[in-house]
Amino acid sequence: MTLLYSEDLIEEVRIRNDIVGVVSGYVHLERQGRRMVGLCPFHGEKTPSFSVDAAKQVFYCFGCQKGGNVFHFVMGIENLEFPEALRQLADRANITLPEPEDNGERELSRQKKEISALNREAARFFYASLAGPGGLAAQQYLSRRGLQEKTLRAFGLGYAPDSWDALCRHLQAKGASAALLDAAGLASSGPHGPIDRFRNRVMFPIFDIRGNIVGFGGRVMDASNPKYMNSPDTPLYNKSRELYAMNFARLSHSKRIVVVEGYMDVISLHQAGIDTAVASLGTAFTQQQAWILKKYAEEVVIAYDADSAGQNATLRCMDILEASGCSVRILQIPDGKDPDEYIRNHGDERFRNLLDHALSLLEFRLLVQKRAHPGQEVEDRVHLLNKMADVLASHGNAIEREMTMSNISGEYKVSMDALKTEVDKRLRKNGRDAPPARLSTNSLRMRPVSEGPARNRYDEAELILLCLLGNENRLFEEISLRLPLERYRGTVSRVVAEKLYERLQVRREASIAELVNDLPPDAASAVIHMAETRGTVDNADKAIQDLLRRLERIALEDEKQWILDNIRSESDGNRRRELGVDLNRVIARMSALQSANDG
Ligand SMILES: [Zn+2]
Repeated sequence: MTLLYSEDLIEEVRIRNDIVGVVSGYVHLERQGRRMVGLCPFHGEKTPSFSVDAAKQVFYCFGCQKGGNVFHFVMGIENLEFPEALRQLADRANITLPEPEDNGERELSRQKKEISALNREAARFFYASLAGPGGLAAQQYLSRRGLQEKTLRAFGLGYAPDSWDALCRHLQAKGASAALLDAAGLASSGPHGPIDRFRNRVMFPIFDIRGNIVGFGGRVMDASNPKYMNSPDTPLYNKSRELYAMNFARLSHSKRIVVVEGYMDVISLHQAGIDTAVASLGTAFTQQQAWILKKYAEEVVIAYDADSAGQNATLRCMDILEASGCSVRILQIPDGKDPDEYIRNHGDERFRNLLDHALSLLEFRLLVQKRAHPGQEVEDRVHLLNKMADVLASHGNAIEREMTMSNISGEYKVSMDALKTEVDKRLRKNGRDAPPARLSTNSLRMRPVSEGPARNRYDEAELILLCLLGNENRLFEEISLRLPLERYRGTVSRVVAEKLYERLQVRREASIAELVNDLPPDAASAVIHMAETRGTVDNADKAIQDLLRRLERIALEDEKQWILDNIRSESDGNRRRELGVDLNRVIARMSALQSANDG
């Protein structure tokens, strides 16, 4: 929700403001079992349904279902945005926050400052090594890639010498300890002391949004592997939170930000004058990155590689961005090239032209279907048109839908009436129960829990599971094994899961109250609702087994429904038989689950 302060500082402010003390300033609370209860300040009531859980440090109203931690309480009651609530609570706990005018400054711990200084020194070393005699091959490599001197300087490119410990020796001579080198992710431990993590690579300093060097990426100059190597996460660097070159892009006059895959794409684009190119650096695109883009961009253009990995990444990225409320378009680079290669072959004018003609989300989703169904026979075309009708029916904007239908009708020589009938049929069906395709498309949209029956049913089971996990960290290994991150399908649960899994992997412990720190109030309410109503059980292990089975059953039911729908509209005999086999598999698995439940 905010990137002005570090997660640690935010968490410190939360921990030092006991929620019972803060709420008592507004609501008269009385003890009732393990909870404190009072009249809800957020909805009119005569009998108390508002509760504060001192152990968990959360509040929850059983009447209006509002919930959250101490930040959400203050935001709600004082009608404040998060940074203001944070400031108020920091004052209350006598914690000094950086002043708003230098909100570019994070509150850096001593270690962060040290790592930051060390990174600067390392970047200087790499830069000097590139200019030195050992850097000749790297210089040649970079100039073969078409990079000019001033670009190298702007991005601080360098070279890590082909040596086991050249950087470590340099930094230790300047007083850095082995522990600090390790904490900064610049070294790993060798038999005779620390050795350089990056060796014989072209080096890209990774800047945070204010231009501090938080880590490095290194690329080999030949075909060896791994092609790219990045700094590990450190106290200063969290790869899911940074967008490479965002420090430059945010200063641009253009509010059209172009998201690409890697360093070289970004640098090529900047050299070509497109100074809003940023990269998510190989990690799966994250919600935090979407929030940054939402803040700085009026429009986001996704320009990932044209290979299949890039196309899958595009689908994920656009779902997250769309759900975060960004206006998104997709740039398709012809003949399977990446942006860097395209610019080198065709020049920046042609690339700019591509940018101006980037596809809308609807156009892109239709294109994905066209590519997946290239057949030219009548039955292939019927199949494709049915798929396109699915896409159209799940698209929210009726005007865009209508205009696109008229194009399709012309292109495929089908009457507008026929197309409209098919789409309307699906729209009516979607209104009753969203099909799987629609769920995954909007899988990150935050919806308040009060939407009642329309609430996503994945969300509910997944959120209960996550709440149990928040209370019972010891079950992480089993849960993450059986329900890996990418399998989450719920609206809010996916965001929460990303965060909880990360905490548990890195720190081995996590609490629900901390998890909701940077969730918007609606999403926090949804999580606390589950935690307070369903997240505390006598036998967590059994509850979790039940939930995992239930999630699998819901997924199977959806798949079954999807197969049945498709069998009905499928005219190709072979494809129908395939679907029949799938259906049998799904039914067999469902009955296996059923007998496990009975047993
Ligand atoms: Zn209430």
